[in-house]
Amino acid sequence: MLFSKRAEPPEILQFFFSPPLTFFLDSSAGLNQLCTMAYTTGLWLFIIPMIIYTALIVSSFRIRATRPGRAFLVLLSLAIIWNLGFILETAALTRELKMVLTRVQFIPICLLPVTWVYLTAAFLGYKITLKHVLMLLVVPSATLSILWFVPPPNWFWGDPQVMYYQAPFPVMDYDYQWWYHFVNLPYDYMLFAAAFVMLIRGLFTMHPIYRMQALLLLAAIILPLTVNLLYNLGISPVPHYNYTTAVFSISGLLIAWSLFRYKFLDLVPTARDTVIEQMDDGVIVVDMKHRIVDINPAARSITGSHGPLAGTHLSELQEKTIWSVLEELTSSEMTRAQVEIDQDGRKVFDLQISFVSDKTKIPTGMIITLRDTTERAELFDKVHTLASQDSLTGLLNRRRLIELGSEYLSQGKPMSMIMIDVDKFKVVNDTYGHEAGDKILIMVSEFCIKAAKKHHLAGRIGGDEFAVILMDTKLPAALPVAERLNLAIQAAQVKSGRKNISVTVSAGVSSTSLLDPDEKTLEQLFSLADRAMYQAKIRGRNQVLSAEFLVREPK
Ligand code: GH3
Ligand code: MG
Repeated sequence: MLFSKRAEPPEILQFFFSPPLTFFLDSSAGLNQLCTMAYTTGLWLFIIPMIIYTALIVSSFRIRATRPGRAFLVLLSLAIIWNLGFILETAALTRELKMVLTRVQFIPICLLPVTWVYLTAAFLGYKITLKHVLMLLVVPSATLSILWFVPPPNWFWGDPQVMYYQAPFPVMDYDYQWWYHFVNLPYDYMLFAAAFVMLIRGLFTMHPIYRMQALLLLAAIILPLTVNLLYNLGISPVPHYNYTTAVFSISGLLIAWSLFRYKFLDLVPTARDTVIEQMDDGVIVVDMKHRIVDINPAARSITGSHGPLAGTHLSELQEKTIWSVLEELTSSEMTRAQVEIDQDGRKVFDLQISFVSDKTKIPTGMIITLRDTTERAELFDKVHTLASQDSLTGLLNRRRLIELGSEYLSQGKPMSMIMIDVDKFKVVNDTYGHEAGDKILIMVSEFCIKAAKKHHLAGRIGGDEFAVILMDTKLPAALPVAERLNLAIQAAQVKSGRKNISVTVSAGVSSTSLLDPDEKTLEQLFSLADRAMYQAKIRGRNQVLSAEFLVREPK
């Protein structure tokens, strides 16, 4: 007997534990046993964690809608089962009962590392699917199956025995076999190492605000892991006695501190999983230093981004067009904008930035919403085109021509206008029909477009009347253009049935140099060209007339 002194348990402990424990334990001696331990070895170390876990579950219930919140609640529930199993197992006297309670404890022990990885990944914003979780659960399921359904000796344990003389109370020597040493343990440590690496990587990329959180989570891993490692190496204040679950409650406190104190989850509304995840609109939450805190699937697809983004600075994603626009906007004073990107076709987004403030009204982050307005923009463009285009010829209509011409005129540069009207067009209509007349109009419009080239304007301003506005062109340069246009139309032919029809046009050419310097308006330019054209008609049609004579001669 190593421990000769056996103290009597205080009555208060007996009173406290009696009703629930006598129900579970194999004999009243078990209760006595538990009380003795509580008194001699500090079982309170395991009782206090129970209180901590319960308090944490109650206080964490409000964050259950978030993924890290849910994972934390599962983690706490597993810890409670483990702890309770542990207390009961310590108190149990017989090998059989101890083994059953150990089997119970292994359920949380096997599931904890998986939950831990999930919590870390969820915290860092990695997307973990059900498939991932099921894959992670393969080894734990195998372990539990062996443990529960194969009687020892098996791969997991050989001949577990109660050790009566190495501690002040009977503890189990589980006689672990190769599955425990080479599968179960390495797998658990591997999962913890994965969580560890994820956090360390996160530390380098995330905003300092979240760095403290990650450090707390790291500490929360290291503590129980160290104790567990020592236990597995055979180092424990009481031989064969595993203090991990007691230390784990400190981890629980650290995680809770990390989740609540730094308000990581508060920045993201609790209903985000259901509302934001399924929204068609993209939502990106960034902190004041433009680091991504959260991004929903719609925003991922709009921005074409994969993988973890939490903690990434917007400027690091600048190679992608939309991100550079976002970075530009978040750095400016603007809160609304329209963004156009060319990503599998043209896409237009309405972008809105709203600020998130803490209770003291200090901005803590920004919420960027992206709404796909491509359809609306296309409709708008269509309406705009329809409103500015002539439906028969596709040329600019009178209103749009005046609009664009006036815009150019206001810049004070020279400008000329050729106005043409088809000669005796009524006769064409009457002789060959309206359809043939339309073909003529289309033919004339095509020559107008050619004359206008890319940088000038061509428009249909009435039935058989057209205008070409030549930018940055003075009268001497405009006249030959009009002449060529006249000749080209004259030479062209349009088929109507078996007949070839041709028409001539009369043209009037005006220029800004002919206008009164105080009254350089597009209407004046139109009026002069119109009058010159009218004169061309009078003078026998099929000719080009400069408006120059109109300003020289008395009106
Ligand atoms: P003028 O040489 O004096 O110009 O004689 P004109 O017969 O061409 O007379 P005017 O320019 O006044 O006639 C324009 C005609 O154009 C009147 C109308 O019937 C015809 N017209 C107007 N719009 C269209 C159209 O969209 N299609 C067709 N086919 N004809 C049109
Ligand atoms: Mg005419």
